[in-house]
Amino acid sequence: MKYFILFGPPGAGKGTQATSMAERYNLRHISTGELLRKEIAAGSELGLQAKALIEAGELVPDAIVEGMIESEFRTVKDVAGFLLDGFPRNTAQARDLDTILAKTGEEVTAVVSLMIPDETIKERIRHRAAIEGRGDDANESTIANRIATYHEKTEPLITYYTTGGKYNEIDGLGTIDEVHDKICRLMDTL
Ligand code: ADP
Repeated sequence: MKYFILFGPPGAGKGTQATSMAERYNLRHISTGELLRKEIAAGSELGLQAKALIEAGELVPDAIVEGMIESEFRTVKDVAGFLLDGFPRNTAQARDLDTILAKTGEEVTAVVSLMIPDETIKERIRHRAAIEGRGDDANESTIANRIATYHEKTEPLITYYTTGGKYNEIDGLGTIDEVHDKICRLMDTL
């Protein structure tokens, strides 16, 4: 199995690009944010635990998202690999992912990073709030804290994966089609 990580700040376009990438390269798209929103909608115990943290722009506990990821790895077999979107989101999750994959003698294949400046993050999230109606997109202080959380907890992963020789960065500015083409040109070499 191949394990691709789609990396980038909130609003970089990961979810948008993931759908076409998953189709083209026969990958299962796993978005931890989407899985968590489903749990919240279902009113599960896990959803209840996650809701307040998501609305505050904080990360949910590592064990919760790691459990969801591992169960997808165990149950999905009929694909060429996985496209992880929104995971890992801090260094502990990245190390745990390495440990999970090592159990089956596997490893992360590559990181595809979509980079956009902080100002664009805010514009895109405001635009998305009007379309998708996500609670964590509608509140300015939540957005600000998500950006802060990204810089503090998630951005160090760039160093983690650069050191591991797996990091590839793409400019996330431009139209959806332009970014899609750039991603495909990179993916075709991986
Ligand atoms: P975005 O990429 O726009 O921030 P996501 O849908 O990826 O949106 O995530 C929404 C929220 O879900 C995050 O702000 C965070 O609270 C929670 N979340 C998603 N993935 C993780 C993760 N791997 N670890 C901890 N929390 C997560």
